[in-house]
Amino acid sequence: MNWPPEVQQDVIERELAQYRAFDQARRAGVACPDRPPLPPSHAPRGFRFALGLALHLVLKTIWLAASAAHAKSVMAWAAKARIEADDLWFEPRACGLNSSLTDLGLALVLAGETQAAIACLDRSWRVHPCPHAVTFGLRRELATRLGTCREAGAIVCQYWDALRLFTSVGRR
Ligand SMILES: [Zn+2]
Repeated sequence: MNWPPEVQQDVIERELAQYRAFDQARRAGVACPDRPPLPPSHAPRGFRFALGLALHLVLKTIWLAASAAHAKSVMAWAAKARIEADDLWFEPRACGLNSSLTDLGLALVLAGETQAAIACLDRSWRVHPCPHAVTFGLRRELATRLGTCREAGAIVCQYWDALRLFTSVGRR
């Protein structure tokens, strides 16, 4: 499958620095620098926005139902479909992609495909930060699940580092 292009770490750090400057100025009550653009300029508008929202909500509902039923192949299918349709989500290559890659990784863990799940974790933090992702961070379930897997060690550590980087903005 084609994964959306990853966001490079230096871009993530630059965008986080913009959020940090915005946040600090707001807290200090001084004139704010420009808020980082949100959603990204390639986000869908109009009909594509509505279509993308509906599609993603349906696919997420299918994933949740499949997860409750431990239907790992359906979980993987629904998560892959969301990844393929990431450009239709209103925040492309951001928190939604972190979430759909997490969902795919969780399905792969259930299927015993550990290496593929590790690849999902490795890819899933390379996304644009957005305000709620900055505040609440990236999803933790896949990193937690792979935390007991020795071969995932370095990738799991890297993920927690990325999560700390994301949540470093907005702390008092
Ligand atoms: Zn977001």
